[in-house]
Amino acid sequence: MDIITGAKQKVLTGGRLDAAEALALYQHSDLLELASLARSVKERKSGHSVYFNVNRHINLTNICGSRCPLCAFGCDADSEGAFILDKKDVQSLASQAADDAPDLTEIHMVSALHPDKPFDFYLDIVATVKEVLPKVHLKAFTPVEIVHFAKKSGQNYHQVLQQLKKAGLDSLPGGGAEILDDSIRKIICPNKATTNEWIEVIITAHKLGIPTNATMLYGHIETIEQRINHLITLREIQDQTQGFQAFVAFPFHPGNTGFSNLTRVSSWEDLKMIALARLILDNVDHIKAFWMMLTMPIAQLALAFGADDLDGTVVEEKIIHAAGAETKKGITKAEIVELISETGYTPVERDTFYKPVGILG
Ligand code: SF4
Repeated sequence: MDIITGAKQKVLTGGRLDAAEALALYQHSDLLELASLARSVKERKSGHSVYFNVNRHINLTNICGSRCPLCAFGCDADSEGAFILDKKDVQSLASQAADDAPDLTEIHMVSALHPDKPFDFYLDIVATVKEVLPKVHLKAFTPVEIVHFAKKSGQNYHQVLQQLKKAGLDSLPGGGAEILDDSIRKIICPNKATTNEWIEVIITAHKLGIPTNATMLYGHIETIEQRINHLITLREIQDQTQGFQAFVAFPFHPGNTGFSNLTRVSSWEDLKMIALARLILDNVDHIKAFWMMLTMPIAQLALAFGADDLDGTVVEEKIIHAAGAETKKGITKAEIVELISETGYTPVERDTFYKPVGILG
């Protein structure tokens, strides 16, 4: 039996793909056949449901000591457009979020690595969000930020995460993974968390009962083999901890970055990546098509390629738009419901743990 036929049989019978099989499927499968395989896995895991939530993004600062070549968001303190929110700003944003959306279930908060703010500042911000929105889930800080807090405070990851959890942190979004390969990280983000640091924070969080998402940034200087190794690394972590709730693949937007000579990958490749992730990550329940990065038409199509989550209403996203994303900065619940219904799947409003909520649950 040839490698592709064997790989397809494995997928259809719930087997696990190895790196060579995944590569063969990626390189030699017909796109629609790949979609059909990924959809069979999606439907085994979440039936006809497609999830979304009502969330709000908050970015505390864009002032960053790391200045990664891949990033269009981080800047110096004296750059035009530099900002840092204080406790009062966060209080008012959180209140505003609840006024705008009484059915809000999640605040998503990630930021640049401010060179001067002490760890206590972030603990205070977490407590502030929870004071204003005690029932709303707070998903905040990438592993890269946790490594930064640990360095700033002289504490280990366990201590940092434990204090954040005590202050009200509920989960981590899992960003900053980019490609988990230091030969790539040295070029695209040489001053931020290494592969091992990212992994150690994730495993520590999972052991503390703090769930996370798993992410990947693709479409810059990495090879397909490195993407597949990245996905297999995530799968190995999940075998060990079961702490990943969902996987999110972000296509790289080169605009305004140190790689503005590159071209954003095609939608063909976006869809193949969604399908490949669904096929490799057999132990991760949900694959998110993050519409803000993909554009809504591609995210909607991704539902036929194994994705089962469109993310949320978002509101006020800044990081991706700094790199030139032309998507809207937010969307209404009614719009998401309509877009999912159009695909024939059933829209399910969820909380961060994928528990159905609201009238659509
Ligand atoms: S990717 Fe993160 S750490 Fe790097 S410059 Fe941007 S905000 Fe800073």
